[in-house]
Amino acid sequence: MRRVSILGATGSIGQNTIDLIARDADAYQVVALTGGQNIEQLAEDAIRMRAEVAVTCHEALYPALKSALAGTGIAAAAGDAAVAEAAARPADWVMSAIVGAAGLVPGLAAIKQGATLALANKETLVAAGPLVLAESAKSGARILPVDSEHSAIFQALAGEDIAAVERVIITASGGAFRDWPTAALAGATPEQAATHPNWAMGQRITIDSASLFNKALEIIEAHEFFGLAPSQIEAVIHPESLVHALVGFNDGALMAHVGPPDMRHAIGYALHWPERRELPVERLDLVKIGTLSFRAADTTRYPALRLAREVMEAGGLAGAIFNAAKEKALDAFIARRIGFTEMAQVVEAVLDKMSSENGLENAIFEIDAVLDVDRLARIRAGELIDQHF
Ligand code: NDP
Ligand code: MG
Repeated sequence: MRRVSILGATGSIGQNTIDLIARDADAYQVVALTGGQNIEQLAEDAIRMRAEVAVTCHEALYPALKSALAGTGIAAAAGDAAVAEAAARPADWVMSAIVGAAGLVPGLAAIKQGATLALANKETLVAAGPLVLAESAKSGARILPVDSEHSAIFQALAGEDIAAVERVIITASGGAFRDWPTAALAGATPEQAATHPNWAMGQRITIDSASLFNKALEIIEAHEFFGLAPSQIEAVIHPESLVHALVGFNDGALMAHVGPPDMRHAIGYALHWPERRELPVERLDLVKIGTLSFRAADTTRYPALRLAREVMEAGGLAGAIFNAAKEKALDAFIARRIGFTEMAQVVEAVLDKMSSENGLENAIFEIDAVLDVDRLARIRAGELIDQHF
């Protein structure tokens, strides 16, 4: 039996992961499930999946979780440290599906104990790519990408020599506002931004899809994970969300990964790798689909894409600053403190401000430094929002 843990089990990726595991429950021993606010779902899944431990990141919710698990023999725990401890419990395979930088420390704990890490939490690579990859080299833990674009690239690279890769192209649906005139974006509401034309995902990544901050994070993620130069990574708008990514080789061939917009494909690929097993996803009918379309992603309309390039060029702690400022700006947009287009203004201003303070280029790239700049970037973003918006 494979021992598996799911971090962020109550979320969109977490629930899709449980769906796959539950279909073949006898093959797995569920070690830990972690969640946040959704105690009811967490307890229900922990009981159904016979988990050893269930953990909420919110200490105040410990009594609720404890009572929901009373008499089941399943251990309950709460708090950020308990989430990281759950990730450190010996397991063969750990799904990293917490949203935001909060996923970094638990993901690292899983890598340190040598588990294969199925990585949905892109923020881990954006904030601390080199550090995380160094830890995985040290412990021998394999990291398998779950973000659909990166899973697509990974699959297109199977059996290929990375040295023969000229470029990768990742696609973006364009999100909720892809057909809106640019001038209308400033007035977009959180509710409008949180509807996705093709994918069912958590609220935060859905809004990031509309601003293309999600694509910005993914460009950095591809740069870190595959060791590609910034100039080798392109993003195009592909409204159908069927081609997830393409890899271009030095002989001119483009290998495309095509599939339905269903995260259970990428999750299942990471679960069964290096094998392929049957997965419960739709089989595409190309004749019915008829047309696949692509258009340029305009960096004036989507400043997040330009900022991603600047972050990659800067390197070091810039990714951690970028991600934290983005998370804070997103909080402010969801709370209606700032407008949709102001999110990019906040992030750019924080990057500018922090690049001229503290001599960041000389900072030692270690986990404490990442967590420090993450905190500082959130403070700077909060100050800017209070002063200017
Ligand atoms: P959701 O918001 O749906 O789920 C997030 C999960 O993390 C929930 O279990 C939530 O608990 C938990 N959580 C929230 N805050 C914290 C915290 N501070 N500490 C610990 N746990 C926390 O997100 P998604 O599933 O959409 O996304 C998860 C990750 O996967 C993100 O990094 C996202 O970018 C990435 N991803 C997602 C895709 C998708 O299709 N959804 C596609 C590709 C990547 P609760 O809900 O109980 O509060
Ligand atoms: Mg993606």
